Amino acid sequence: MTAERTEGALREPADRQPLLEMHDVSREYRDGPQTVTALDNVSLRVNRGSLVAVHGRSGSGKTTLLNIMGALDRPTAGRVRLDGHELTDIDEAATVAIRRTTVAFVFQAFGLIPILTAEENVGIPLRLTKTPVPERERRAREVLELVGLADRRHHRPHELSGGEQQRVAIARALANHPQLLLADEPTGQLDSRTGRAVMQLIHDIVRTRSLTAVVATHDPALIDLADRVIELRDGRIVDQRGP
Ligand code: ADP
Ligand code: MG
Repeated sequence: MTAERTEGALREPADRQPLLEMHDVSREYRDGPQTVTALDNVSLRVNRGSLVAVHGRSGSGKTTLLNIMGALDRPTAGRVRLDGHELTDIDEAATVAIRRTTVAFVFQAFGLIPILTAEENVGIPLRLTKTPVPERERRAREVLELVGLADRRHHRPHELSGGEQQRVAIARALANHPQLLLADEPTGQLDSRTGRAVMQLIHDIVRTRSLTAVVATHDPALIDLADRVIELRDGRIVDQRGP
């Protein structure tokens, strides 16, 4: 066997590698004279097509972890590899491109624009990627249908319940067909039944579309839907279950 073929045989195809890998990631914040260690030597991997729950009490580092996974923030030390890109090496322009196409965020506070309809809110990321109008409308409908809100597409956020608003936010996150959905306490403002339904929806979307999701939650009742559970305490992984 030639050297070239040996190398080829050893190299795994990109789609079999983990979507995300973190090696010894730390994030420190300066807070006046003090230094706060929000993440302390975190190493993990997220396999494609999996639903990962990150839990831990308030202040344990969940938001910091998700922000670094999604290239919204950079670690103080360590390496992050997302879909073949070394996030710690690339420049700001490349980071922006990844934020627009590879990852999508869902937040606790929904983050919908009040004067826009559900369909227009969902269309925002498609505007940012300059998707032509007919394609934008088609995709907005497709993802609203996916979250069960096709008939609410002309409603504005205040005409929707909390659970429906979060479903619109999930549809918006999916509009650009991201690889990685990052949801930061997406059920934090919902009652437990609605929160469960939103978690179930994320689970079902991960199963039916080729999507990977990392969901931060402090609600232990929601983690049983996950393939993998990571528990953070004081910025460290103290427990990790699942493949
Ligand atoms: P969680 O999402 O689990 O509540 P965070 O990631 O928000 O945790 O915060 C982890 C730690 O980092 C906390 O101690 C928090 O106070 C601190 N922290 C987060 N963001 C900042 C910041 N911008 N400046 C200073 N400290 C921060
Ligand atoms: Mg948080």
